[in-house]
Amino acid sequence: MTRRECDVAIVGAGLVGSLLAIFLQQQGQRVRLFEKRPDMRVDDVDGGRSINLVVTSRGIHALSQVGLKEKILAITTPVYGRMIHDVQGELIYQSYSKDNTECNYSVSRSQLNKELMTCAEQAGVEISFGCELEDAEFDKGVLTFSEGEVHTRRVYGTDGSGSAVRRILARQKHLSDRIDFLPHGYKELVIPAAPDGSYLMEKEALHIWPRGHHMLMALPNQDGSFTVTLYLAMEGDVSFATLNTSERVTSYFHTHYPDAIARMPCLTTDFLANPTGLLGTVWADPWFYQDKVALFGDAAHGVVPFFGQGMNAGFEDCTVFMEAMTKYGDDYSAMFAEYYQIQKPNGDAIARMAIANFIEMRDHVGDPRFLLQKQVEALLGRTYPELYLSKYSMVTHSLIPYAVAEQVGEIQKDILEQLCQGIKQAEDIDLEKAKELIAQKLTPLWDAGSGDLISSPNPS
Ligand SMILES: Cc1cc2nc3c(=O)[nH]c(=O)nc-3n(C[C@H](O)[C@H](O)[C@H](O)COP(=O)(O)OP(=O)(O)OC[C@H]3O[C@@H](n4cnc5c(N)ncnc54)[C@H](O)[C@@H]3O)c2cc1C
Repeated sequence: MTRRECDVAIVGAGLVGSLLAIFLQQQGQRVRLFEKRPDMRVDDVDGGRSINLVVTSRGIHALSQVGLKEKILAITTPVYGRMIHDVQGELIYQSYSKDNTECNYSVSRSQLNKELMTCAEQAGVEISFGCELEDAEFDKGVLTFSEGEVHTRRVYGTDGSGSAVRRILARQKHLSDRIDFLPHGYKELVIPAAPDGSYLMEKEALHIWPRGHHMLMALPNQDGSFTVTLYLAMEGDVSFATLNTSERVTSYFHTHYPDAIARMPCLTTDFLANPTGLLGTVWADPWFYQDKVALFGDAAHGVVPFFGQGMNAGFEDCTVFMEAMTKYGDDYSAMFAEYYQIQKPNGDAIARMAIANFIEMRDHVGDPRFLLQKQVEALLGRTYPELYLSKYSMVTHSLIPYAVAEQVGEIQKDILEQLCQGIKQAEDIDLEKAKELIAQKLTPLWDAGSGDLISSPNPS
């Protein structure tokens, strides 16, 4: 590639870039997508590892807007609740809803990415692989890739949490940014299918082995296997730094995850071969420059994965932006400003909630007061389904803005603390008092903030 011209350049053909390309192409724009990696449909860019994600309400909503909901759901496995594994291997199942109407969808990240790239091409998007953005002069509309220059009217940065677009904007003083890393990292492992192809654990569940300062999670794949993720400190006595031999890895798993290791024949090989990923939160401000550049997805607001929302939040960026496009026509300054004004508080809120979830899992998992509050919350949700929607449900099974869910969640915490004073089990709460507190503290906020959305929380 030497010099090329295009109307719209999207940098990064990951999940969000591919979906945004489809949205824009469907609006009649001529979109070119530039991706630094080779085509993952041809080359195995993940080195055989299978990372998987859950798609929830916001992701599904965005996919239905471009007519892809059914096609994408066909490559997912529905997950109806959490299966908690204790150290003895005892199981506790918690359904996401009382009648199995709410579920999340587990999908392989690379399979989803491949599917979205193919859909983008079918919509008319041209994808250039092996093109890494190195520099840019956004005022002149010039992008410098490893292979040459591209001249364009508009740039969308969807190049992930280490975004080059964001880095260049920051260097040119058009925005400020920061990445906060957690002391924990993650590693992808696998529980393979049984020899006959069946699942070795409950198929329709998110499996969690909560152990306070470290944790294992597993999500089903369509081929009978589970993708397993270990979250563990990077440094310290028990950490990725010290689990550096087969013996140590085996002994650690036997101590903390005995029922999992029994199903992981390739554990030590995978553990020592697979990379350890870092977990960071991206804070950027603003997410756009004039009418020339805008950031989407992890490039704007990378979050830690403890709410399973990074991609879902990025997909929501696309729907919010398309609404602004419908409103403002060709006025990109107004469009970018409105998109930012709506999504920045939501991006910040899901980033904070994801970190809070990490701390909650780490510090409160064995705390009886915390567990009691969770049980009372479940009881309130069952007793007053139209009045009480937990923060988890708002985030995962509704389109209620993340910022509203965060605010409501804080109020709910306060209500739960009051209701749990002096009781030993959930059934002892004063339901009348609960109803009064909810009416007093929550309904006005819901009415003012998102009355419409609350009344139809599940878009799928
Ligand atoms: C362990 C883990 C579990 C997760 N679980 C969930 C979950 O359950 N649900 C959920 O919603 N989210 C989850 N996430 C988050 C999710 O993976 C991300 O939010 C999502 O991948 C972001 O998509 P993106 O397109 O913005 O960025 P990315 O997926 O990072 O894509 C960026 C693309 O840009 C390309 N690129 C980078 N730099 C350049 C450059 N200079 N030039 C050209 N191209 C470039 C990259 O190669 C890549 O293809 C999880 C994340 C982790 C780490």
